[in-house]
Amino acid sequence: MSLLRFRMLEKALSHAPVEVKAPSANPSDYFGERVFGRRQMRKYLNKQTYEALLDTIENKTPLTRETADAIAAGMRQWALEHGADHYCHWFQPLTGGTAEKHDSFSEPDHEGGMLEEFSGKVLVQQEPDASSFPSGGIRNTFEARGYSAWDPTSPAFIVDTTLCIPTVFISYTGEALDYKTPLLRSITAVSDAAVEVCRYFDRNVSRVTVFLGWEQEYFLVDDSLWSARLDLVQTGRTLMGHEAAKNQQLDDHYFGAIPQRVLEFMKDLEYECLKLGIPLKTRHNEVAPNQYELAPIYEEANLANDHNQLLMTIMGKVATRHHFRVLLHEKPFKGINGSGKHNNWSLGTNTGVNLLSPGYTAFENLQFITFLVNVIAAVHRHNGLLKASVMSASNEHRLGAGEAPPTIISTFLGTQVSEVLDKIEQSLDDEDIRFDSKNVFRMGGLTQIPSLLLDNTDRNRTSPFAFTGNRFEFRAVGSSDNCADAMIVLNTAVAEQLVSFRRAVDARIERGEKRDKAIYETLRELIGSCRAVRFDGNGYSEEWREEAARRGLDCVSGTPLNIDRYLDAATVEMFESQGVYSRKELEARAEIKWETYVKKVQIEARVLGDIAMNHIVPIASKYESVLLDKVWKMHQIGLKSHTDTDLIKMIQERTATIQTLTHEMVECRKRANRIDSMREKAIAYHDTVAVYFDRIRNEVDKLEEVVDDQIWTLPKYREILFVK
Ligand code: ADP
Ligand code: MG
Repeated sequence: MSLLRFRMLEKALSHAPVEVKAPSANPSDYFGERVFGRRQMRKYLNKQTYEALLDTIENKTPLTRETADAIAAGMRQWALEHGADHYCHWFQPLTGGTAEKHDSFSEPDHEGGMLEEFSGKVLVQQEPDASSFPSGGIRNTFEARGYSAWDPTSPAFIVDTTLCIPTVFISYTGEALDYKTPLLRSITAVSDAAVEVCRYFDRNVSRVTVFLGWEQEYFLVDDSLWSARLDLVQTGRTLMGHEAAKNQQLDDHYFGAIPQRVLEFMKDLEYECLKLGIPLKTRHNEVAPNQYELAPIYEEANLANDHNQLLMTIMGKVATRHHFRVLLHEKPFKGINGSGKHNNWSLGTNTGVNLLSPGYTAFENLQFITFLVNVIAAVHRHNGLLKASVMSASNEHRLGAGEAPPTIISTFLGTQVSEVLDKIEQSLDDEDIRFDSKNVFRMGGLTQIPSLLLDNTDRNRTSPFAFTGNRFEFRAVGSSDNCADAMIVLNTAVAEQLVSFRRAVDARIERGEKRDKAIYETLRELIGSCRAVRFDGNGYSEEWREEAARRGLDCVSGTPLNIDRYLDAATVEMFESQGVYSRKELEARAEIKWETYVKKVQIEARVLGDIAMNHIVPIASKYESVLLDKVWKMHQIGLKSHTDTDLIKMIQERTATIQTLTHEMVECRKRANRIDSMREKAIAYHDTVAVYFDRIRNEVDKLEEVVDDQIWTLPKYREILFVK
């Protein structure tokens, strides 16, 4: 082992578990204590202000200037009492991370002293310089202004000593420059459309809430080993590295005992998150070595997404205390599983009904089937776009890699639900479709959807979009993604579908059909038309690819071409009709996605070239010359060593190949850089640059196997992945 590697390893092994104790064993004692939530609002705001704020949160009533000032005063007092000295508008620009610019509460009082100031005006709106955030051409530099505006539906919170105010981020001309704005618009669209459909079943429904429960997968690696890997530091993944002999073959990591040092990290993370009101619930080992998962209890989708964004930041901060680095990249290591972020999604009414949960009465079940089928129809219609919403340079390595959902979107329903839908589709005579005297809904011989259905749903881990008993689980989302992109498409597609469903049913009713029959017949047509997206088989199989193509599902692979779906006529029509994105905003999003793809691949290509040329080739050459020296000296005493000569030849060939390929890759990059169109450039990076990665890596990994371990400086997989 090289001295450098030895030192890093020694340091890694010396990192003992760091215990951080919560002040109480009972999380309810500190849950949400760093959040300006309802409890805090009631305490720090007068009754009138509190009620006005609730009215804004629940009914979107605009805030008056006076109310905003009163809220700001209460919020400031609470923040100061909790040790905050700065505040910031916290938003989610299209960089993929979160942004914050801190301002001090203190201002000169013009009498030589300082005063703690925080007005309603700065709470509600600010003007951060938007020129350095991606805008996809919406905001040219001479009009750099962007606004951040308070989102009162997501409560303010304190991180360290800064009061963070969740905000949307929009351009001077009103276009969204962030994830939150379109997410909120899509939530409104689907809620409104769902309420209209719910009214067939229950006139008391006035509000539908979108729920999201994400499951976050991640890797932990020791920070000293991490820092010796330029590729991990710069790109978040390893661009080379020979597989360890023992990986995940033995399935001994999944749900295994959590190593103590990792457990202390998790406990510390949970403590920090619970204080911030993130309701973490589950933690466990994942399939790959050093891979873990955590999940909260599901929440309203906008809040849930803010919490996921916040979590990703907090994870990094907490990890450093434990000498870990968190890897959120979708595929940090070759040969073992990558990480995803399952998005569990459902709709619930103000009357307490989960619209995706089978009920006990016939009526509830017709409602359940209605929503289920409409979701499937939406996924069918926009399957290509749904895929585009999760495609990225990093997630591309994971999707379709035989461990994660394939690059085709289909839905899995389980045998029972599938059977019910088939029956509805096939039942021809009216006799089958009626309510009998006991209020049992007859569906083609199935007297009632069994209430046990819930618990009986079989699991199909290969499906990218699975129904899991009371929700859909979108599994193709990447671990580093902002969930919003996927949720925006899903919400809007379902909204569009529900609107069209309502129209179709109403038209039948106008023609004199009874309401239940109209709903039933419309459902039957819908089930027939979206059959193609239903697939209960093995999504990883080669046959499925062929079958899916025959069924007309989107089978395009490669991120740059997937992004085209954002500009399809059906996409623009859908987003515009639902008031979620304008065409201009969509063009900007697509542009940013292509640009991000280009930059990510560009950085990887540079890092790979650097490491190959200034680490790998010199080290391999050094070993080669040792061998040459040996062979030469042996020759002097009349001995021959064929094996050594073969090894020299092999090293010589591989280093030469690395040099040639790296040179070619650089040339291809230069050529791609000269392309003006961002879309064409992304395609060029995909087709002509990224294709070198595996070829170069392959040579490097082969060298790693034979070059003297004592001079190999990069920490190896067996060290990064197995030192806890
Ligand atoms: P699994 O690994 O079996 O899918 P987990 O417990 O890891 O289950 O995660 C399931 C996630 O789904 C949790 O965040 C949970 O709160 C969420 N969830 C459960 N029911 C619903 C629902 N009706 N709507 C949205 N999310 C839900
Ligand atoms: Mg799950």
